[in-house]
Amino acid sequence: MSRYFTPALRKLEPYVPGEQPRVQDLIKLNTNENPYPPAPGVAAAVAGAVPGLRLYSDLHCTALKSAIAAQAGVEPENILCGNGSDENLMLAIRAFCDADHPLAFADVTYGFYPVWCDLFGIPQHIIPLAEDFSLDPAAYCGLGETVVIANPNAPTGRWVAPAALERVVQTNPDNVVIIDEAYVDFCDEAPENASCVPLTKKYDNLLVVRTFSKSRSMAGVRLGYCVGSAALIADLDRVKFSLNPYNVDSLAQAAGAAAMQDKAYFAQTTAAIRAARSWTAEMLGGLGFTVLPSQANFVFAKTPKMGGEALYKALREQKILVRHFAAPRTKDWLRITVGTPEQMQALQTALREILA
Ligand SMILES: *Cc1c(COP(=O)(O)O)cnc(C)c1O
Repeated sequence: MSRYFTPALRKLEPYVPGEQPRVQDLIKLNTNENPYPPAPGVAAAVAGAVPGLRLYSDLHCTALKSAIAAQAGVEPENILCGNGSDENLMLAIRAFCDADHPLAFADVTYGFYPVWCDLFGIPQHIIPLAEDFSLDPAAYCGLGETVVIANPNAPTGRWVAPAALERVVQTNPDNVVIIDEAYVDFCDEAPENASCVPLTKKYDNLLVVRTFSKSRSMAGVRLGYCVGSAALIADLDRVKFSLNPYNVDSLAQAAGAAAMQDKAYFAQTTAAIRAARSWTAEMLGGLGFTVLPSQANFVFAKTPKMGGEALYKALREQKILVRHFAAPRTKDWLRITVGTPEQMQALQTALREILA
């Protein structure tokens, strides 16, 4: 750290992303990436965008927004695209919280929320999940604070029905409720029942954040979007234009629009993940693990036979990388990304050997 770093930032603890190993022979189940490639049309769309790289990217992501809006059943004015949903979450927290307007969120959830609070000097109101890691929406009703809820939650995988979250939105009419739906496409429920997007038409204080990183197999593209009332989106746009107007590059816009178009591929790959998820949960249960019910592309599991960190290390020796969070409530658990059936079978073989 240099002596020039501002005192406020000296204390900042940055977010720690999961390891991105540069060796090829690991089975990588640690950052919830999709094991399948992007939709087949993405490559040609990206190649087609190359000549246009001479110019700055479309500030308003016009074609991409239309493609998203058509599927989300909203208007383009209800959408903001960003450099990953991380950027959209950051813009929203920057826009709707400050030193006098705290952010409320769960104690066990996406680790980036507290980091943005620290970066922007926003007080945190941390609301513990129940013993079984379930989230009680009643704890967020009538708070009078900006709220962010990941649904399905990470790293637990647990999901709350939108009808239960609607109460949170309804009872905090003077504050924005942000629902981070990074994993919602992996829910067993049909999209219209799994997502809070339809509720954005009814409530002007609801913002839903989605990403192309997980269900669209494009974590490396850095592309996300959020859905909300035209006024909320305009607020976020004001912050975006004050920070980084060309936040979504031309290749990402082309890739995103092409990915949205291929509904069959999306249905096929998300169904494959769902099937591998049930298989994995059952397999882990058979080996004596406690497995939380997951609606995401990962499972959260623990075994009485071994601590989380020891098992993480043992798996790594077997060339399988999973995620361990050392916090008191999560230290016994591992978050395991759902990969291909072959990868999950390799996990089974390794676990049998380790736990024998
Ligand atoms: C992965 C993840 C994100 C970040 O997604 P990007 O679009 O890759 O920035 C946001 N929220 C949660 C809960 C996530 O797990």
